[in-house]
Amino acid sequence: MSGLRGNSPADDTTIVRCENLVHVFGVPGSEVAALSGVDFTVRSGEMVALLGPSGAGKSTLLWHLAGLLRPTAGTVDVNGHRLTGMSSSDLASFRLREIGVVLQNAGRNLLPYLSAIDNIAQVQAPVNRSAKSKRSRAFDLLDAVGIAEVAHRRAGRLSGGEQQRLALAVALANDPALLLADEPTSQLDPVSAASVVELIRAANADLGTTVVVVTHDSTVGAALGRTVTIRDGRRSLPIIAAAR
Ligand code: ADP
Ligand code: MG
Repeated sequence: MSGLRGNSPADDTTIVRCENLVHVFGVPGSEVAALSGVDFTVRSGEMVALLGPSGAGKSTLLWHLAGLLRPTAGTVDVNGHRLTGMSSSDLASFRLREIGVVLQNAGRNLLPYLSAIDNIAQVQAPVNRSAKSKRSRAFDLLDAVGIAEVAHRRAGRLSGGEQQRLALAVALANDPALLLADEPTSQLDPVSAASVVELIRAANADLGTTVVVVTHDSTVGAALGRTVTIRDGRRSLPIIAAAR
């Protein structure tokens, strides 16, 4: 089993808590243990950068925090809810209201036939705002990520970098308690990457959004608060270690 060192203990302010999280992909005879007993805790209001080599299990862990995978063993709690026992529909509505997710492949976060602005407007469906204020919020977010000029272009027609920025705007649309982003700057030039990091930091500072970002970019890691590294000594036995 993998061990966790130096992580913060759970308390009243814990927003994310994984205990002995195991995820095995595949079928009997050809299993891959992507997570082999991970313990991971994030306090409310923290910004955590998740680092580690390719294949270490970073994306798998993020999917679990978003309630997008069912663990082979172990538990995941987010904002006081045990995701492990929730129905798929309860998970979907919980995610829409409380978690903003940017998956690694930016296009997967978007509805390709809707315009950029409509992608942000439709995700606000559960929020009690007028249609007008939803669109104005959508414009503000497009402006903040620097793609206001493509507001009416279909998401599927945007470049990879524009899709990545739109995905972050969608993830922030409902002021989530927890923002999860997987390599959110991987397709961006340094200036655009810096503006994305600024937007994430502003959500954290202004709204108290807790942030977990998977990144290879050391400048992104340095701009966040705490660094957690997942290591995969052997592919089937990743070890997670935390350092302040
Ligand atoms: P990272 O994001 O750190 O690069 P991943 O979480 O994507 O790592 O993958 C961890 C391990 O699990 C890798 O060995 C990967 O090949 C494997 N894996 C990920 N997704 C699947 C899947 N859907 N089916 C089978 N194996 C998978
Ligand atoms: Mg990944």
